[in-house]
Amino acid sequence: MQIQYKAPRNWLQTLLQTEIAQGMALTLRRMFNRPITRQYPEEKPVVAAGFRGRHALVRDAATGESRCVACMRCARVCPSHCIRIRWSRASDNSRVVDAYNIDALRCIFCGYCAEVCPVNAIVLTEVYAYAANGRSAFKFDKQALLDNWDDFAAQKGDMQGYVNPLCRPRNMPEGALAHAKRVAVDAEWRGAEQWVGKNHRATHAQGAEPNPSAPGHGQAHQDGAAQ
Ligand code: SF4
Ligand code: SF4
Repeated sequence: MQIQYKAPRNWLQTLLQTEIAQGMALTLRRMFNRPITRQYPEEKPVVAAGFRGRHALVRDAATGESRCVACMRCARVCPSHCIRIRWSRASDNSRVVDAYNIDALRCIFCGYCAEVCPVNAIVLTEVYAYAANGRSAFKFDKQALLDNWDDFAAQKGDMQGYVNPLCRPRNMPEGALAHAKRVAVDAEWRGAEQWVGKNHRATHAQGAEPNPSAPGHGQAHQDGAAQ
């Protein structure tokens, strides 16, 4: 495939510098257009599907807890090494997350953590406005991440089965996806046709099915940490 960055032009176009005339014509046309000014923050923009904003740990509706099963995949895949998890064993031998920390100031918002999570526990929400005066506000612990989810849910409405389309690895057949990620998303997000941006407002309105439940709890002894 050849990518062409500059349209070829003939000698006459070069001599007359027609691009200048085209540019001036465009400027002239725009002078009579109605100005578009968004009255932020009263008028909030609609973000595109797949937008990667503030991190959150999804709060399971059934248990009220995080869905995280401490598989450590997100911590291992994170290129910035900004996720740290500490877990322990429950009496039924399942893993219990004791601490989950993300340093959002080191994050590059690649979305890998959300993509690899088998239970859709960690997501990058569509929350983009979260400025603070100090750095500590961006060092999210488990409770802060759950609070981020509550905040996102309050803004978004019905959150059952929410999955950011970008959290579904691209080109992966639906059957190969973890159960928590087999949710209703627009056809554009499936298979080879997945791409970001088109009709994102329609995608935003997409409904979804309920998700499976979270891990169990119990007493703990063993520790594990990222990296
Ligand atoms: S978005 Fe990327 S850099 Fe940020 S926490 Fe997730 S894996 Fe790490
Ligand atoms: S958030 Fe997901 S990927 Fe990360 S440890 Fe928990 S279950 Fe595993």
